[in-house]
Amino acid sequence: MRLLLVGPPGAGKGTQAQFLAAHYSIPHISTGDIFRANLKAGTELGNQAKAFMDRGELVPDSVTNDMVKDRLTHGDVKNGFLLDGYPRNVVQAQVLREFLTANQTPLQAALELSIAANEIIKRLSSRRTCRTCGAPSEAGATNCSSCNGTDLYQREDDKEEVIARRLEVYEEQTAPIIAFYRSEGILLTIPAVGTVSEITEQAITALSRLA
Ligand code: AMP
Repeated sequence: MRLLLVGPPGAGKGTQAQFLAAHYSIPHISTGDIFRANLKAGTELGNQAKAFMDRGELVPDSVTNDMVKDRLTHGDVKNGFLLDGYPRNVVQAQVLREFLTANQTPLQAALELSIAANEIIKRLSSRRTCRTCGAPSEAGATNCSSCNGTDLYQREDDKEEVIARRLEVYEEQTAPIIAFYRSEGILLTIPAVGTVSEITEQAITALSRLA
């Protein structure tokens, strides 16, 4: 299965990606996670991305596209992959299409998680992230809901001032890729409401209808 998730920040892409990747036995490739891992490790790539991430802006395409293309050459993608957080604009979508077409491994589905704007702000501003495994938890939690770690923090870009900018960037730059994938005939949309497992189930049902 070769698919990607698209939806605004806070739609639950990362959480769903983990479950779907496990279900289809494919790697979960999150550009946000790769950037954060590089930041933590203090790499050149991390340093390049930091200022953009802190402001809620997109890291430049030249950096992001090369990083994703490199990741998609690893051996673990031979049975497919799940991209989460990429592409984030139409240029990235075009670069990805070219790369996958050249490798004769075109995308099979773009799964859109749709959610109302007021719900997004509520979710993101109360989201805490585990420094150990990256999983999200609710504000007030003392332990990570995934690995039980105790080092939970608020991502710099989950602070209210930055959330507003991320939503603007999503509307202006990322939302147009939905029309791009609709015109390619591979867009599937599910509402990102309900419990995590209900949403996963809906996603699997939608994906099972693929030709
Ligand atoms: P995320 O964890 O997906 O919300 O990503 C966090 C931040 O990483 C974003 O706000 C961007 O600054 C950066 N980022 C992640 N994916 C991309 C991408 N495909 N293109 C550009 N910047 C990205």
